Amino acid sequence: MHLLTLNCGSSSIKFAIFDSDLQEVLRGQIDGIGTEPRISAQRNSQTVIDHSLQDACVSDHGSALSAILDLLRAEVPGIGIAAVGHRIVHGGTQFSRPVVLDEKTIDQLRALIPLAPLHQPNNLAGVDAAASAFPGAVQVGCFDTAFHRDQPWINDAFALPYRFYEEGVRRYGFHGLSYEYVSDRLREISPAHASGRVVACHLGNGASMCAIDNGCSIGSTMGFTALDGLPMGTRCGQLDPGVVLYLLQEKQMSANAIEDMLYHDSGLKGLSGLSNDLRTLEAAATPEAGRAIDYFTGRIRIELGALAAMLGGLDAVIFCGGIGENAWRIRQSVCEGLEWLGVEFDALRNRSGDGVISSERSRVGLFVIRTDEEIVIARHARKLIGQ
Ligand code: ADP
Repeated sequence: MHLLTLNCGSSSIKFAIFDSDLQEVLRGQIDGIGTEPRISAQRNSQTVIDHSLQDACVSDHGSALSAILDLLRAEVPGIGIAAVGHRIVHGGTQFSRPVVLDEKTIDQLRALIPLAPLHQPNNLAGVDAAASAFPGAVQVGCFDTAFHRDQPWINDAFALPYRFYEEGVRRYGFHGLSYEYVSDRLREISPAHASGRVVACHLGNGASMCAIDNGCSIGSTMGFTALDGLPMGTRCGQLDPGVVLYLLQEKQMSANAIEDMLYHDSGLKGLSGLSNDLRTLEAAATPEAGRAIDYFTGRIRIELGALAAMLGGLDAVIFCGGIGENAWRIRQSVCEGLEWLGVEFDALRNRSGDGVISSERSRVGLFVIRTDEEIVIARHARKLIGQ
């Protein structure tokens, strides 16, 4: 029997398939759903398929999932799906661990759509599509918010009238599956660091940072939505709420126009006027690109100071995500501003960028860890069907 993991974004589905020993069989993705669909997959990091699906009418998550199913049948003979594990962005206050998805839990997750209007509907569309495609399989939901649910109250709340906290206006934090993976992996690489005070930096197109005390999240830069904290590819990160009032009242922008700007036209893209993609900005090397990169690394240093203060000190920093794992210049520029915290990186190790990148003398351990949300989902799914 096999386990399938699905991560449904607005125009993409990432998938991976594992055998019952949690050995990865295949992973891949469909991008450009509804526009220019393309499917790719890798086995043992080797590409086995990569082509356009332009003629295959992949217009929604249901048809994309059928295309994935066709691929799996062709590539994995005798495939039988026992469980489908889904990455679900929002578990609200109710879900602090993975659950089997049934009618009741799905209704509870639908009720959370207003808290994550751009992500939750896609995740739930994936659940519906998988339930039709694999009627015999157990559907399991794994939540990006769950890792953060035990944070101390002051790191969970906003200073609004308390009734808003009670109705769920809280700092939920996201990227929890990634943080779960890298903190477990740190325990394998360096148990002493993992038992200490760790800041994990998930730096990708979406980006956040998390204060982890002996494996438990105590604070995150992302708040009520996935907009807060660090600037991202297209999202603004930390913003004075007075700016939103100004845009509404003085600039007469509509709520939809502001939402669109904060989610899709801000961050690296907004500051550079060029691109949301760090590789493009590094290659362009224009003053505008430099300005965006400086803001990004500056905010990472500021948040690192804040998260270290939450932890009462700092023993280790983890870099992960597309930027954290690959962009050595970003890691260098973050670390160069953190000597006061006992951070000292090794230039050569940082260039090669895997495992330990701190110098022998560094008081703080610095680690690059390739994150893997899919294996976390598969582990949870296997555990739940075992029960
Ligand atoms: P997502 O949040 O969409 O999963 P990723 O984690 O894939 O995003 O990260 C995408 C980001 O990582 C992009 O800004 C991309 O430019 C950056 N990135 C990927 N590889 C490199 C690299 N070798 N050097 C610099 N940046 C990189």
